[in-house]
Amino acid sequence: MTTLFEKIIAREIPANIEYEDDECIVIHDINPQAPIHLLIIPKLLIPRIGESGAFESELLGRLLQKAEMLQNKLNLAKGFRLVINNGQEGGETVPHLHIHLLAGRPLAWPPG
Ligand code: AMP
Repeated sequence: MTTLFEKIIAREIPANIEYEDDECIVIHDINPQAPIHLLIIPKLLIPRIGESGAFESELLGRLLQKAEMLQNKLNLAKGFRLVINNGQEGGETVPHLHIHLLAGRPLAWPPG
């Protein structure tokens, strides 16, 4: 089954694309939870972090480091938060790994 994010990567569904390269796409979340809410998505279909062991670990590192690039691109010097929801109780709704990047307001801790 094709995931929602595969359809966005294939341009079958429109999205507000902030950045794209050979191995990932970064889009603005359709239901933002902060003034800046991005999704860093690998083009390779990794279902979730809890099933990522079969995949190249360097890719996961590079995905995390996209946050540094986005920090500089979007001037996030005041801070940001990265979130990965995993599984039903973790709040995962799209079974295609993605890293949420939230910024632009003070973020409470603990999260809900
Ligand atoms: P998660 O709940 O962690 O699986 O995150 C999935 C995210 O995808 C949610 O924050 C949704 O708001 C977001 N989302 C769902 N559909 C779209 C879409 N068409 N374009 C952009 N973001 C979307």
